[in-house]
Amino acid sequence: MSTALTILQTKFGYAEFRHNQQDIIETILNKGDAFVLMPTGGGKSLCYQIPALLLPGLTVVISPLIALMKDQVDALRVNGIAAAYLNSSLDPEKREQVFDDLRQNKLKLLYIAPERLFGNEQSFVSFLKSLPVVLFAIDEAHCISHWGHDFRPEYRLLSALKHEFPHVPTIALTATADELTRKDILNKLALNSPRVFISSFNRENIYYYVEPKRNYYDRLVDYLSKHRDDSGIIYALSRNSTESLAADLSADGFSALPYHAGLENDIRKKHQEMFLRDETKIIVATIAFGMGINKSNVRFVIHVDLPKNIESYYQETGRAGRDGLKSDALLFYSGGDVIKLKKFAVIEDNPEQTNIMLRKLQQMADLCETPSCRRQRILNYFGEDHPGDCASCDACLTQFERMDGTTIAQKALSAVARLEGKYGLTYTIDFLRGSKSEKMKDYHRTLPTYGVGSDISKEDWYRYFKELIGQGYLQQTGDEYPVIKLTALSPGVLKGETKVSLIKTIEKREGIDSNQYLPYEQELFTNLKQIRATLATKENMPAYIILSDATLLELATYLPLNLIELRKISGFGDVKVARYGNQFLPAIVDYCRTHRLSSKIDQKIPKRERKSNGVGAHGRAPKTTDTKLESLRLFQAGKKSIEQIAALRQLGQGTIEGHLAHFIPTGEIKITDIVPAEKIPMITEAVKRHGGYAASPIKMELGDAVSYGEIRAVMAHLLKK
Ligand code: ADP
Ligand code: ZN
Repeated sequence: MSTALTILQTKFGYAEFRHNQQDIIETILNKGDAFVLMPTGGGKSLCYQIPALLLPGLTVVISPLIALMKDQVDALRVNGIAAAYLNSSLDPEKREQVFDDLRQNKLKLLYIAPERLFGNEQSFVSFLKSLPVVLFAIDEAHCISHWGHDFRPEYRLLSALKHEFPHVPTIALTATADELTRKDILNKLALNSPRVFISSFNRENIYYYVEPKRNYYDRLVDYLSKHRDDSGIIYALSRNSTESLAADLSADGFSALPYHAGLENDIRKKHQEMFLRDETKIIVATIAFGMGINKSNVRFVIHVDLPKNIESYYQETGRAGRDGLKSDALLFYSGGDVIKLKKFAVIEDNPEQTNIMLRKLQQMADLCETPSCRRQRILNYFGEDHPGDCASCDACLTQFERMDGTTIAQKALSAVARLEGKYGLTYTIDFLRGSKSEKMKDYHRTLPTYGVGSDISKEDWYRYFKELIGQGYLQQTGDEYPVIKLTALSPGVLKGETKVSLIKTIEKREGIDSNQYLPYEQELFTNLKQIRATLATKENMPAYIILSDATLLELATYLPLNLIELRKISGFGDVKVARYGNQFLPAIVDYCRTHRLSSKIDQKIPKRERKSNGVGAHGRAPKTTDTKLESLRLFQAGKKSIEQIAALRQLGQGTIEGHLAHFIPTGEIKITDIVPAEKIPMITEAVKRHGGYAASPIKMELGDAVSYGEIRAVMAHLLKK
């Protein structure tokens, strides 16, 4: 009998469940209702698709967007699963076909829009009642709530669902719902004592970066040049700026198209389609773009203008990295944007709403301005704890050096004192720097503090002020026009009694442009993408539906050379192996032959044994097994010899050498750590003579002069080169 896990492995080609997928699936199989809150890319679809395959009957999926339905159905079909959708885009003939298939119980999943279910007449509900419906799945469930960010009136109709089908289990899923919206969803859907599953909102594979907006175009071009093969979204505030930025980027040789609600329907659709099909790499869009974009290989989301609150920022950046691979969220920040957005935040005759909007905007600005872990701030905002120091945001990847900032602090504080706490940050900084701007009051120009800070740049002043506020020596008050004021701690600084420490230089530890993966064959990766693109065109589908980037990356890392090895790659279910295996294998085999490489598939932790939080499950190269890491740890930490480690771990010396050899390609171990320098040329020659595939012929040739571990180390070393 099939279990959920075997379905996951054979149909979808994945090793293990993520988040609480397994519990959710079990709840449904036990006929319970469930409410699932899981971040984008978390794997919500499998939560109902796997029960759909295990339950005897039809699963009806309610989804708000036509484009999304087609995507989902295509993705199921390439895995050999009988699924269909009904919506206005189908021609009558195709629609009849779907009805026929339904009557004959040929389908496992049917995707429909809510208005189809409870349209003007009852006929469709009656029709469904004549079918063995075993499960309802309500995708994007937040659309039912006024409190959600995307209320859809049609979704309200779903309140009748439980009434019409009281005994059919229902699962509601969403990626965004605060407490209020959550309660509302449960209430409106009248779920039957549902189990509620809430996953962490942390998107580990998204790296967050905030950079100053000044001269951002050069920086943008620099970033994009380093990511030429990648797809990404650039968000801008206005329709005009999307068009001009897309034009500038195109003129600079990038493949970029604009997208906004003001474009003609045809053009908008075409641009979206081209992006989904990787025919254009970059889409420069207003926030109108994104809802219902299922594209899994979005590698970066860049904001050239500030989002209006953290919810929007999280949602927009969340469109990156659905496939679990490392992706970047880069935001260009300027205080000027905050001022601009404040104007939009004011809602006439509604001071209460205005204040909420302004507060949210300020929280977004704070996120950008404070050099502390961005991930922690985002998660805290959503009420989730995170220890910080995530090692994957610009703040955590930056090293700060502190200095004695007492004089700087004194200048700043006396400026604030001179301005009597009545001015905002920008004015205060202009005052300190002796600005000649017309905005500067004549009277202020005559004060002794005017211009005492001209040796420090605007950006640095800005940073210092934020730090002084953070340390409590100054405060910023007022919602719409915040002003800078002294605090109880200020006099101590002004009198020279308190020493102040400030951040001096900022050094990047590991920049945004670094590559985080284990070594993989880049050229092969590119070839594989091309093969996928050709298949996608032939089958008239977006490339990411055929295989995800994560799957291609595994191919280029582990180099499977036959169908059996291919099965071990995440994302290759039985049907995809049969259908596409022979399209990709020859390219890998050829590549390995030309480059004298052998398969590395046995370095991959077998699908069944993968750890639940192992990186492998996210499609990146897997973590090296613990025993290898243990050897590495002992070797690096204790300065122990290989012999000593072998004795300590009660393993053979060759085994330890083999363990350590794994870390040669990653650079953690040097070849000379394992192999005496004088032996390297001899072994290298032998490896080359024997083609570098197996260690035993070399061992036979060289005999006791060398160990297996030494041979493997040299092979790993050559692989690295
Ligand atoms: P969501 O709807 O929550 O945004 P999806 O259901 O589209 O996410 O899943 C995101 C990606 O993760 C898809 O490519 C999906 O096939 C993949 N995925 C889902 N569950 C797993 C799993 N257990 N292991 C590996 N990949 C998975
Ligand atoms: Zn961080």
